[in-house]
Amino acid sequence: MKKVYRQLLNFLMAAAVLIGAGTIVNTKMSQASGDEKQDAKAGTMEVHFIDVGQGDSTLITCEGHAMLIDTGEATKGTAIQNYLQKQKIDKLDYLILTHPDSDHIGGAPVIITKFQIDKVFTSNYEKDNKTYMKLIQALDNKRLKQTTPKVGTKYSLGTAEFTILAPNNTYRNPNDASIALLLQNGKNRFLFTGDAEEDAEQDILENGLDISADVYKAGHHGSRTATSEKFFEAVSPSSAVISCGEDNSYGHPHAQTLNTFRMNGVKVYRTDEEGTIIATSDGEKITFSVPESDTWQAGEPNGTGAVWNHTKPSAGKSEAAKDEVTYILNTKSNKFHKPSCNALPEDENREDSSESRSSIIEQGYEPCKRCNP
Ligand SMILES: [Zn+2]
Ligand SMILES: [Zn+2]
Repeated sequence: MKKVYRQLLNFLMAAAVLIGAGTIVNTKMSQASGDEKQDAKAGTMEVHFIDVGQGDSTLITCEGHAMLIDTGEATKGTAIQNYLQKQKIDKLDYLILTHPDSDHIGGAPVIITKFQIDKVFTSNYEKDNKTYMKLIQALDNKRLKQTTPKVGTKYSLGTAEFTILAPNNTYRNPNDASIALLLQNGKNRFLFTGDAEEDAEQDILENGLDISADVYKAGHHGSRTATSEKFFEAVSPSSAVISCGEDNSYGHPHAQTLNTFRMNGVKVYRTDEEGTIIATSDGEKITFSVPESDTWQAGEPNGTGAVWNHTKPSAGKSEAAKDEVTYILNTKSNKFHKPSCNALPEDENREDSSESRSSIIEQGYEPCKRCNP
């Protein structure tokens, strides 16, 4: 009931904005239009955490400029297209695809086909599955080049600018290869880290850039594999936004992450409970389109707890089967096990994989000698 009510409220606010303002730039409800030329240098920036179910897609607009970070699953491409068109967007200054998992790049072919795009940024991680090939094909069709942005580089978006924080390395885990960035408008700072997990967070900390932020888009959908302690301390956000699907099978967000937020007084906003969330920055303060979540309810993995390669179905597998854990990986010893093995790794070295035996071996893992997977 709560979610329905909030979504209705969201919709009414969006409708009022469209009727009232008529432009995508001046969409602040609380301010009278007509006084855009204020002393403050920063214009209005909006960050739309679009509800794409389990996955990520964030639209950022500022002074008539727009960028999109990630595009949800393939089934969400058209919904994102419609959302952008409702915001009167026909061109993206930047399309950023943090890493090639399907819940981040799935909808990209639709977006690439339907919109004019200036720059496409992708991670340095390549995959050889259908989802990835469709992305490459769509880019080719539009003669668009993809580049991996350099850490430390700054790009502008209207009065806002963003600084690239990652990837700092090449990684075996596609999540760790995520592009991360710090978006700033006036004094307001937003941090995006895709699905980067602890190793990548560590590398971001080591590169010494300032990652403190007001709003932290919780890494890896609020999973416990991200938002490590030191990283969280360095970010020290006042608000966190979690983008995840209602009743998702991975158990996002994890109770440990929610506890960290709760204990530190971080306000939490969740797309699984509240639908699309819009944060508006005027350079001084940030306002949210929905009230903060007060459920502190952790996700429940449906017996899988898959945290890696969560959405890489091999050809011919059914939708329902794609989350099934096939093997348990030990990231420290580089051994892999049957889920039933009695020598499974400790939590911190454990990754549940849904990939085939051959692709796990290709990644450098050796079969456990006890369970002979
Ligand atoms: Zn993801
Ligand atoms: Zn991922």
